[in-house]
Amino acid sequence: MAFLPYSRNLLSSILNTANRKIGMRNLMSKQLVYNEFGDPLHVVKFRECSVPPLGSQDVLVRMLAAPVNPADINTIQGKYPVKVNLPSIPGNEGVGIVEDIGKEVKGVCPGNKVIVTKPVQGTWRDIATFNKDILRVVPDNLGVVEAATLTVNPCTAYRMLTDFKPVKEGLVVIQNGANGACGQNVIQICKAWGVKNINIVRNRPDICELKKYLECLGATYVLTEEELRTTNIFKEKKIEKPSLALNCVGGKNSLEMLRHLQHSAQMVTYGGMSREPVNIPTSAFIFKNLSFHGFWMTAWSEKANQADKDQMINDIVNLMCENKLKGPVHKMVKFDHYEEALGNALSSKGFTGCKGVALPCLPAIPGDEGVGDVVEIGSHVCTVKPGERVVLSSRLLGTWRYYGIYHERDIHVVSPNLPLPEASMLSIAPCTAYRMIKDFLEVKPGDTVIQNAANSPCGQCVIQLCKAWGINTVNIVANHCGYEAVKNRLLDLGATAVYTLDEAEELTVFNTSLNRPILALNCLGGRYEDIMLKLLERDGVIVYYGCAFAMPLVKQFLRCDATFCRFHLNDWDAQASSVEKDVMLNDLVQLMVIGKVKAPVYEPMELKNYVQALRNTVHCEAFSNVNYVFDFTLP
Ligand code: NDP
Repeated sequence: MAFLPYSRNLLSSILNTANRKIGMRNLMSKQLVYNEFGDPLHVVKFRECSVPPLGSQDVLVRMLAAPVNPADINTIQGKYPVKVNLPSIPGNEGVGIVEDIGKEVKGVCPGNKVIVTKPVQGTWRDIATFNKDILRVVPDNLGVVEAATLTVNPCTAYRMLTDFKPVKEGLVVIQNGANGACGQNVIQICKAWGVKNINIVRNRPDICELKKYLECLGATYVLTEEELRTTNIFKEKKIEKPSLALNCVGGKNSLEMLRHLQHSAQMVTYGGMSREPVNIPTSAFIFKNLSFHGFWMTAWSEKANQADKDQMINDIVNLMCENKLKGPVHKMVKFDHYEEALGNALSSKGFTGCKGVALPCLPAIPGDEGVGDVVEIGSHVCTVKPGERVVLSSRLLGTWRYYGIYHERDIHVVSPNLPLPEASMLSIAPCTAYRMIKDFLEVKPGDTVIQNAANSPCGQCVIQLCKAWGINTVNIVANHCGYEAVKNRLLDLGATAVYTLDEAEELTVFNTSLNRPILALNCLGGRYEDIMLKLLERDGVIVYYGCAFAMPLVKQFLRCDATFCRFHLNDWDAQASSVEKDVMLNDLVQLMVIGKVKAPVYEPMELKNYVQALRNTVHCEAFSNVNYVFDFTLP
């Protein structure tokens, strides 16, 4: 779904006019707020309220992005040792653009990019007023994600590598939770400072890829928890034993780490992700003279002098601007979808894979899908080369632009033989169709799938994939005029049978060559859903996606043999490994290259004509449905 970006100039002029005419009182801020401590998914609410008039020391900031950190979640739960007055706006970090300043503000101007440097100031809102003292101007060319996530994890990593064992040539650091946002900062700062580092991660199906990624960031060694137990790297003198250990996990994991430390080494604990205590054997104190410390960034910030703070932020900003320190792997989530971001951060099961989920990102560039050629890569990028053709494998990254900068994890290299329309529409409809056919039950050649909205992009992909895999499809379309043309188009694509809703309602038996459908794909609900349930084989599966997201209890009761499931591509994305994504995209690309899956009918359009594209785009099935593709190659 597309949404319109706010133009910065437009917003500024609206704000300025508002300021002049009505003294800011009409300016509204969208924000999250909680009135009680508890489960973030229950206590955090969305509200819109007016922005108070700007005080003489205040700065009006339009937020660009704010991350969700474990500490934010713990603060909302009331489990974090900071004082919060309720009601409170969550969010400790964030970046924005200055829109206006109070009369006595100096050193900050409208248009400056600023970060919020003090915790608990409430960054999860689109427009905010902050006291000038808690803001810091950062360079315009500092990345939004880097800026939004600068004050917690990079600073923690920096301090832990500075304040304990002095960094020197030959120092070896070991850390767990190495894939976390903080861990990735440790790796990169170590690389920039020439510090060897050993990184412990949890094992997972795509461990090779994770190791490769962390090595690209600068990891000297990446070991799973199991590998650490049996590793020979110290015995074989491949690397010295570490003299500094950074622990954010606790439990057995930290115990295993400290077994490998040098005499007189230090272990710094800064998190407790496993929720298990840190156990230290008595011998570690007596015979190895190990020392154990805690580190809390908030406490450091409270007592540190301004010069040390400035030095740290300057060093970090420089590393970021030199591309030596990247922001965490993240997923941009629209502000309205904040529950997704919270749910992601709360998930303690499995592997998150995606850290520091960033919240509001307005103005945002619309466009979820797209294809392009790589022009330039950053120095850490190792999976893609200039000149290669790539599609975006993650959504919400903004494709309606001529040039975009994306993380290598969010792009997938495709064959240059993949036609452009197919490539530009690869990552939503074909992926949705692919997953729905594969993930709910084993559909074999000769089986039948029934679907409604068969003429939609997703419906057309279902037809073509089923045809390629020898599966029959029964396709229901609306009772519109022009039906014959649609029917012929779908039959040409490989549909086994096409019916209007009325015709389908008359159906009771199937033609003998066709088995009753075992899988129904429902994105419309209502009569369309009823007819599919009527025709569905006993013990079949019905999948709800698109507009049909509510699964009616009564129907579930009446068809108690059937399995009712939901599908949302974003949910799949959030938990799929990159290997699974690659397998799917490669399968689809192969079918597209040999012409077995074609893009839906589309009309190329110049980007400047976007209004026409927006006006004419409809989200449900219709015979006049035209898919617009912004064609950046048009002269
Ligand atoms: P992330 O969510 O980005 O990363 C968490 C890391 O912990 C991931 O690598 C994850 O591994 C790993 N992990 C989670 N559960 C377990 C487990 N049961 N066993 C082993 N590993 C596990 O978090 P951050 O990097 O932002 O923060 C990490 C911790 O540090 C948090 O507790 C946070 O509160 C704390 N922190 C403390 C600061 C301070 O000042 N003291 C400052 C910053 C952070 P996987 O990738 O496999 O999911």
